[in-house]
Amino acid sequence: MSFNREDYKNVKISFEARRKNAEDQLKRRETEVCSKLPEMKKICDSLGDTGPKIYAAALEGRDNYEQRLADIRYETEELIRRQKKLLSENGYPEDYLDIKYRCPLCRDEGNIDGKMCGCMRAELIKAGYESAGIAGLCGKMSFDNFDLSYYSGEDRANMELVLRKAREYAESFSGTGSGSLLFFGGTGLGKTHLSVSIIKKVIERGYYCVYCPSEKLFSDFRDERFKNDDKTPSKTAKYGECELLVIDDLGTELNGRDIVPYLYSLLNQRINSGLSTVINTNLSHTELLAMYDDRVVSRLFGEFLPYMFTGRDVRMQKLKS
Ligand SMILES: [Zn+2]
Repeated sequence: MSFNREDYKNVKISFEARRKNAEDQLKRRETEVCSKLPEMKKICDSLGDTGPKIYAAALEGRDNYEQRLADIRYETEELIRRQKKLLSENGYPEDYLDIKYRCPLCRDEGNIDGKMCGCMRAELIKAGYESAGIAGLCGKMSFDNFDLSYYSGEDRANMELVLRKAREYAESFSGTGSGSLLFFGGTGLGKTHLSVSIIKKVIERGYYCVYCPSEKLFSDFRDERFKNDDKTPSKTAKYGECELLVIDDLGTELNGRDIVPYLYSLLNQRINSGLSTVINTNLSHTELLAMYDDRVVSRLFGEFLPYMFTGRDVRMQKLKS
């Protein structure tokens, strides 16, 4: 489990900014109240001396350290009591001079005793949806809203199996060595829906994922090929690095023949590194062979676990209803 490194770096920076903002806001409130109430200024100054007092007590030696510590704690609690009373008497909320972290559990540090806090995990998942390219899709598509009522008879039984297998795949995904899937079948049978559901779940479980419509994958490879400087960041590196890559609608790209060797090399690299890929396509085996070379097709059918989507076009059924 490794989340997207770039997302992790950015979320860490935003947590540091949160902490600083909470501290700045507290300073601003302190300055405001202390300028109005001289007694509060004395209390705040005394509270500010707590750290140095503990340090001095530690230097004094072991014999009376614990007693000194208890005394300092008592004095501090007393000061806080007076502070709250004074705030309340002057029309301020009692917690006006408490630091307000967005997450009181981890004090906006993102971890508690070395373990990631739920708040940071939620931020990383949100960032993961964005960086994986599914922010707009994941609100609409999940395992829970995959509607089997659009399939009937044998198709229903088949699609129940496909849904169960897709869910199991996502829930047991464990990074390298998790295998790859190939979804094929006609249009409107839920291939994109289940692909997005998988990537969504795998992101939530903390893995670095990328979703890419085939058209975009091909155009990124083409841009990369014609790039004539080393300064522009690579558009395609993430396709080779991520723990799960989803290629949506393979075969819908236009004039992609020149990019086929890049696709082969990407698939090969991912297979050899044990990285997982989910590909969906409307094309049959014969159509895939006509569109790509047999090396690509043999990789797909040799290394990916294939699932055939069957039934009547769900989008058309929805339009008619
Ligand atoms: Zn937290």
